[in-house]
Amino acid sequence: MGIYSTSPEIEVRERRLHSIISYNGTAKDLYEQSRSRSLLHTERSYSQCSACAEGCTSVVTHIRDCAVVFHAPIGCDAGMFNNALVSKGTAKSRKQEEFSLNMLSSNILEKDTIFGAADKLRAAIREADQRFHPKAMFVTTSCASGIIGEDIESVVNEMEEALGYPIAPIYCEGFKSRIWSSGFDAAFHGVLRKLVKSPRKKQEDLVNVFNFEGMDTFTPLLSRLNLRVNYLLPLASLEQIETISEAVCSTTICETLSMYVGAVLEEKYGVPEVKAPSPYGIDWTNQWLRAIAKLTHREELAEQLIKEDGEKYHDEIEALKAKLAGKKVYVISGDSFAHNLANVGKSLGLELAGATSLHHDLHTDNPASVNTLSALIETNGDIPNFSVCNMQPYQVIKILLRLRPDLLVCRHMGLTSLGSKIGIPAIFEGDANFSIGYEGVVKMGRRFYEALQTKKLVENIARHVKQPYTDWWLAEEDPFYFQVRAVS
Ligand code: SF4
Repeated sequence: MGIYSTSPEIEVRERRLHSIISYNGTAKDLYEQSRSRSLLHTERSYSQCSACAEGCTSVVTHIRDCAVVFHAPIGCDAGMFNNALVSKGTAKSRKQEEFSLNMLSSNILEKDTIFGAADKLRAAIREADQRFHPKAMFVTTSCASGIIGEDIESVVNEMEEALGYPIAPIYCEGFKSRIWSSGFDAAFHGVLRKLVKSPRKKQEDLVNVFNFEGMDTFTPLLSRLNLRVNYLLPLASLEQIETISEAVCSTTICETLSMYVGAVLEEKYGVPEVKAPSPYGIDWTNQWLRAIAKLTHREELAEQLIKEDGEKYHDEIEALKAKLAGKKVYVISGDSFAHNLANVGKSLGLELAGATSLHHDLHTDNPASVNTLSALIETNGDIPNFSVCNMQPYQVIKILLRLRPDLLVCRHMGLTSLGSKIGIPAIFEGDANFSIGYEGVVKMGRRFYEALQTKKLVENIARHVKQPYTDWWLAEEDPFYFQVRAVS
């Protein structure tokens, strides 16, 4: 059976990739158990917070010329309205025209869960059409629409015919998955099903780069190989998305974000995925450049780039290594991106105190895709303190207190502040594009060094912070005390 199916929905990661949200052990053990599929799904008897597949909204709300209707109670996507500022800022930094995000909620209320909300959805789609005049639309679902069991497909088909442009339903009911990356897959499935067109001609110099709304760090690298960057999906236009099947290859800032769409583009349209880890850290940057060069027949240019950047940044990287010598860093981030950040730390000579990924996929959609955990073990060796934890601050704080790293780097804003609260200088890696390539290693090194200068300040902050946990929990040895049950 192929990876892509025309079914309206894609299976969530727990069922498709046997993904887990809790594990405590070593990187090697996690990899081996994942490979043999012997790792059992674990449950917590206590969770402090959770995430849901509404994460799809971070992929589809930033697309130009499009509108999004959240078929949900108003609270589900309230946070999305902050995204307008993020998009504006990034468009400016990429020297692109700013644009407004076009979003509406159908505002499902309690009575709608009894009488149905299909008419509300029709009205919201019409309203979005009249307000925003989009060229395409997305309709995202929610727990509430799922519980009602509404026939969203029929409403969308009917409205598509009435309005004359594509409307992509994205099935991301929150209760179906505790992994927000399931929402990424749902979003990409909707895009593949409704928007992507068959290639008219191959664009031999166009590289799909799946990312969030980060700054433009890929063009300066890939333009030196005479390649153009097609940033997807945030900030892309509808036309850019329709023609992703024409690209010469696809790459990503993180396997976790785009493994499904990358695999389908390869399977359905022959657009190969770059089978190398993303360009974080010097060794992975070299591997990535060589893999792209091989796919695009630009080997000489890649070798020249590697030589030039190796020489250009050598002295500063060595100076940073000397400044950071003996320091230990802890990494917290989404699955593959945690491996990426850990590898940047390794290029700076930092010792890896450990890493926590917010979930872990036991395998990838395409078995031939790169496995970044395996790549990290290969370059770094085993990582003794390796865990999977879906953001539970009560556990994260215990892990950090036990290991006491010198530095923390975190891709999640809410968890970054935990470092400061216990006296550990912390960096928030908000822009996932920032630390790619040789220059990215240097920028990360500078930030680590600057963060170390705040040691006294954060220790002072820690002295004044009262943790919201009982003495019992703070004295308990095992951060995974509430991980109680393994089910097959
Ligand atoms: S879990 Fe359900 S109710 Fe909560 S935000 Fe997600 S879709 Fe909405």
